[in-house]
Amino acid sequence: MIVNRNITMTWWERIYLPEIFRGISVTSNHFFRNLIGFIPALLNKDKKRKIFTLYYPDEKVEFPPAYRGRPVLVVDENGTERCVACGLCEIVCPAKCIEIQPDETELEKERYPKSFSINMARCIFCGFCEEVCPKEAIVMSDECEIADLDRNKMFYKKDQLLISKNKLQKRLNYIKEIYGKWNY
Ligand code: SF4
Ligand code: SF4
Repeated sequence: MIVNRNITMTWWERIYLPEIFRGISVTSNHFFRNLIGFIPALLNKDKKRKIFTLYYPDEKVEFPPAYRGRPVLVVDENGTERCVACGLCEIVCPAKCIEIQPDETELEKERYPKSFSINMARCIFCGFCEEVCPKEAIVMSDECEIADLDRNKMFYKKDQLLISKNKLQKRLNYIKEIYGKWNY
């Protein structure tokens, strides 16, 4: 979208006050429509409101797959984590908030992260870790309620990061589509 910064105002716009009142009427319209929209729900008459506002935290927003919440590690259906501890995400992370300690495993993949932690107090949700991962092992989830008053609690260890593939399917499909050009 291109913004035209050289607009020539009409005479009506140049006298200023009509545009002020037009702005106030748009704002008032939204204000009263939302205010009235609450009444049926408050009277328990209609649970389905026609306004955008949600009763957070009782009601949650369903984020689109493009949303980048906290990064998590994918666990496959057979219960194995996908990560092969290659360290690419650790290197690419601009906030240097990922720490991985690799180890050998008897499994086919040979390497796994003995420990994997992300300091969520430093993460900037850029998604680079997800983009660089060759195994789709780390993805951006839709979880955003991670605020805490204690910084130590923002240090997420591997057991807090592991999430089953089923819960992340929407995002996994989405990244297949957007990174498809480069990774597949
Ligand atoms: S989202 Fe960005 S800042 Fe956060 S862990 Fe991944 S690469 Fe690092
Ligand atoms: S999450 Fe992906 S990029 Fe990071 S170490 Fe594991 S396999 Fe490598």
